[in-house]
Amino acid sequence: MILYNTLGNKKGEFIPHTEGKVNMYTCGPTVYHYAHIGNLRTYIMEDVLEKYLRYAGYDVKRVMNITDVGHLSSDADTGEDKMLAGAKREHKSVLEIADFYTKAFFEDCKKLNIKTPDVIEPATQCIPEFIQMVDTLLKKGYAYEAGGNVYFDTSKLDEYYVFGNQNQDDLEVGVREDVSEDENKRNKTDFVLWFTKSKFDDQELKWESPWGYGYPGWHIECSAISIKHNGEYLDLHCGGVDNAFPHHTNEIAQSEAYLGHKWCSNWFHVTHLLDARGKMSKSKGGFLTVSLLEEKGYNPLVYRMFCLQSHYRKPLTFSFENLDNTATAYNKLLKKVSALSPQGEPSTEEAKPFIDTFKKNMDNDLNTSLGITSIYDVLKAKISDSTKLYLINDFDKVLGLDLVNQAKEMAEKAKSSIDTAKVEELIKKRTEARAKKDWATADIIRDELNAMNIVIKDTPDGITWSVK
Ligand code: AMP
Ligand code: ZN
Repeated sequence: MILYNTLGNKKGEFIPHTEGKVNMYTCGPTVYHYAHIGNLRTYIMEDVLEKYLRYAGYDVKRVMNITDVGHLSSDADTGEDKMLAGAKREHKSVLEIADFYTKAFFEDCKKLNIKTPDVIEPATQCIPEFIQMVDTLLKKGYAYEAGGNVYFDTSKLDEYYVFGNQNQDDLEVGVREDVSEDENKRNKTDFVLWFTKSKFDDQELKWESPWGYGYPGWHIECSAISIKHNGEYLDLHCGGVDNAFPHHTNEIAQSEAYLGHKWCSNWFHVTHLLDARGKMSKSKGGFLTVSLLEEKGYNPLVYRMFCLQSHYRKPLTFSFENLDNTATAYNKLLKKVSALSPQGEPSTEEAKPFIDTFKKNMDNDLNTSLGITSIYDVLKAKISDSTKLYLINDFDKVLGLDLVNQAKEMAEKAKSSIDTAKVEELIKKRTEARAKKDWATADIIRDELNAMNIVIKDTPDGITWSVK
């Protein structure tokens, strides 16, 4: 598979450390609020990537953290702790907030058909691992204590800006020119590994450590959790593009300093979902959630399809008008799928060229919009309905649009709004008329059924009917 790798900023062959096996890590949500549909764009695209790797035959282990401590309102270690802010907003404890929004996040994932990772690890469950890692970094001379906190010393690295594409905006978010923001830092790019004192003092959750009673910095959690579950070599690290700097840059710095060798070979970053105000973000407020889309009558899978129609490295602008277009396309697809009447076995010979094309496109840096085109191509093709259904199920293992089940549900819903007894009575009368060769009556009844949007099909098992 060819994937774009932010490390090196180019497309290249994806080669895992151990043949056939993929160790994959995903930065999980900061659970101080509902995930917005921008966050979920990232998780949807990561889910498709994971599913495609499995489809391509890899044995994937996917690990995700839950940030329930340590993420300050600026990604550059300044401001208030996001979890604490959430707890204050709702007059609850940090753990109550974390528990509530973690559940809400996985409920949203379920609605969007995002697979649950193999390992989910809240940061608060890994304090001993963080302490051990910080301790090793201090012993190796990569960290220093100052003003009660422990900092990573970026001047000890040969290379810090590993992704090499930080723009001015990134730098402004990630690195404050004004070092006096935190006068303990020796270099402006240094970051906190462990907090005890200073102005970040009103933390609700604290733990004993060799450096005093305190709490971990945000970046350390992903390195420690990944190394704990994925081991010393990571094949694929994912996140939204805002995570690349400083979060992922800092993860690389501390992981490689700790391990003493290269750590993660491929970085997969999803570009932001935008709205009329720019990047959708939790801190700006006024963001959209899956529940809100549902309240407005959208099937969450329409949003999944909306994301898949665009490439993960392109900015995607959300509007209800665009979502409506996708909803129309999705419903049309469901109708076409529900109109299939498979008989007999699918043909592998018929299926092969379609599978080859699907793989070719997905192998090319996860081209999901062409992945969806494959479904349309199958539906249009002159192949049996059995093969069509087989292929749709096959591609949907990766795309996750739940087409066959949703099509069935749609057909059943349409059927339940129809006067079934009347339809069956009419079909019976039509059959009797045809048996008597009374074609005129049979035609009148067919027209009547037509007017009710009923389609009848003569099959070897008798007459079946569905709603148009
Ligand atoms: P957070 O809960 O803020 O830690 O973010 C969870 C994930 O969503 C991270 O991978 C972020 O990079 C990503 N993310 C944040 N905002 C957006 C956005 N507007 N579009 C796409 N991904 C985003
Ligand atoms: Zn992370």
